[in-house]
Amino acid sequence: MAEVSLTKALKRYGQTQVIHGVDLDIKDGEFCVFVGPSGCGKSTLLRMIAGLEETTEGQIFIGTNDVTDVDPADRGIAMVFQSYALYPHMSVRENMGFGLKMNNVAKEEIEAKVSRAADILRLEPYLDRKPKALSGGQRQRVAIGRAIVRGPEVFLFDEPLSNLDAELRLEMRVELSRLHDELGTTMIYVTHDQVEAMTLADKIVVLRDGHIEQVGAPMALYEKPANRFVAGFIGSPAMNFLDVDVTATAIKFPGVSGLKPTAAMKKHKKITLGIRPEHLSISKNGAWVVNLIEELGGVTYLYLTGPNKERVTAETREYGKHKKGDKVGISFKMTQAHAFYPKSGLRI
Ligand code: ADP
Repeated sequence: MAEVSLTKALKRYGQTQVIHGVDLDIKDGEFCVFVGPSGCGKSTLLRMIAGLEETTEGQIFIGTNDVTDVDPADRGIAMVFQSYALYPHMSVRENMGFGLKMNNVAKEEIEAKVSRAADILRLEPYLDRKPKALSGGQRQRVAIGRAIVRGPEVFLFDEPLSNLDAELRLEMRVELSRLHDELGTTMIYVTHDQVEAMTLADKIVVLRDGHIEQVGAPMALYEKPANRFVAGFIGSPAMNFLDVDVTATAIKFPGVSGLKPTAAMKKHKKITLGIRPEHLSISKNGAWVVNLIEELGGVTYLYLTGPNKERVTAETREYGKHKKGDKVGISFKMTQAHAFYPKSGLRI
């Protein structure tokens, strides 16, 4: 087990800089998730930690060792990829033990390690099967088993669940949480899926364009996003944003009344207010038009268009109350609204 730290880690491909000097500390035993939109640099950062990509500048530490220039095989890490990359002609048992066999580990030791990994991953019934006789989820478990038998200090996961269907993804998410609880090993996990990030992580690192936007516990990011980007990225459906005018006594926005600015907001003439769909209340009669209704059973999402064509989403627990084309009012508590500078997007 080991902590992982990056100091001013930077990556350039030729002239193009894709990671811009990242500082990050991941604690021993932590489940850390890198999340962000496609192309933000999450995989590159993970591969730099793995040693699969060279770090152009800066340093990477695993435990107390500076591994910046150390071979991937000597970093004490094991990586699990989106593609399971199992050997088709080998059984599950052989696939899991292969790396150890190549390292001339004794047969009995390999057997013991494979057996323990199979036990943790509930793979015992499948040990003698070939990968083609397994489901996608079982294959990914074999790939994880192959990582476990190596006894790494740190597990690295690169979008491991992306190839699975929604139901299996959910099942594997629960499995991964259990695995982390059981092993207690440091895990670093890359995903573009904020739900995976929220449910798996002790610590989320939100990346954009090769920069860290915010680091924190899932609910800390949810409740206090550092900027509009994080606010819009974490949470589903996404946070609504309204550009409003502020006076000494009121927040002015067409179709919303009775909003009083907080002391911090009064210092600005214009701000962007962020309101989560679950914090919007709907009333009868108002200036917002119901465009679309999605009833999911437990919750209903109302997609509304405002007087100036603004779009917001509201979440309710009721169903059957509204229909397309209805005109409704919206309101929210100021204590549940987030305020951002309109230009920089930083939290006020
Ligand atoms: P993510 O995993 O967040 O989708 P990546 O880490 O794969 O993003 O990529 C980050 C950025 O680096 C992207 O803009 C991508 O185009 C660029 N990139 C990745 N690999 C290379 C490469 N081998 N050469 C040049 N640019 C690359």
